[in-house]
Amino acid sequence: MAADDAAPGISREDGTVNERRVAVVTGGSRGIGRAVALQAAADGYDVAFCYRSGTDAAAETEKLLREQGAQVFHAPCDVVDYGAVEEFLKNAAAELGQPHALVNSAGIVRDNPMALMPVEDWHSVIDTNLTGMFNVCRSVVFGMMKRKEGVIVNLSSIAGVYGNATQTNYAASKAGIQGMSLSLSKEVARYGIRVNVVAPGFIETDMTTDLPEKLKAKALASIPMKRYGQAEEVADLVSFLMSDKAAYITGEVIEIDGGVAL
Ligand code: NDP
Repeated sequence: MAADDAAPGISREDGTVNERRVAVVTGGSRGIGRAVALQAAADGYDVAFCYRSGTDAAAETEKLLREQGAQVFHAPCDVVDYGAVEEFLKNAAAELGQPHALVNSAGIVRDNPMALMPVEDWHSVIDTNLTGMFNVCRSVVFGMMKRKEGVIVNLSSIAGVYGNATQTNYAASKAGIQGMSLSLSKEVARYGIRVNVVAPGFIETDMTTDLPEKLKAKALASIPMKRYGQAEEVADLVSFLMSDKAAYITGEVIEIDGGVAL
């Protein structure tokens, strides 16, 4: 987004006005969320981000964002807890102003074949990835409707598009994200709000580095481009979808996976 594309005049709680757009990024302390936050700062946004508990990573992200000249607000906030989400968003808005953009990147995996999957791992993945994303969208969207502007980008996965053995919980949560996001896009398009989904393939982050070598080799073999993706490559796509260059794109699920679908 060019700096002069920014819609100025987003009021903070104290009555002062922030001339820059504000982006909220969940799971912004590490991995794809951090890359999205940094790219948003490079695009001229101030950034509010949350995470579950990793305060060291959050401090590093804050430092990198401030080096880019962005104003920053961050706090631990479990997206599963609706009250905590509302509190985080209230404090972020008081500090920076109301969000123009929301990127939901917070997510977890708990892989196992279904026959061996602990029931609690089903629930924790659905709760974090799907219900957590609902909580944040629900808390943000009414304000965007009142302001008649906004853009939401939700992180799904190609597992939610094609399925993936050992990921019944994760794939279900990600397929749910797609259904939820596409339905929301239909509800809010008339208010000038766009909602899109990004579905990455295998991206090198903490989420994937700890996987068994055998599994990583299998994943690599299935990628026509014969390499894993980088968080910054996903952030570039998210940046485009957040920008006014994507002004006529809504209700899409866009895969970024080195050609896995081929
Ligand atoms: P990481 O594990 O690197 O980072 C996850 C982030 O989410 C961290 O900031 C973490 O905070 C936060 N988080 C986890 N649970 C919660 C919670 N309950 N409340 C708030 N924040 C939470 O993941 P990636 O960056 O790799 O993944 C980002 C998104 O992209 C996820 O939704 C993932 O499913 C999706 N994705 C990733 C792919 C990949 O290959 N990496 C492929 C396809 C999709 P904390 O540090 O405190 O735990």
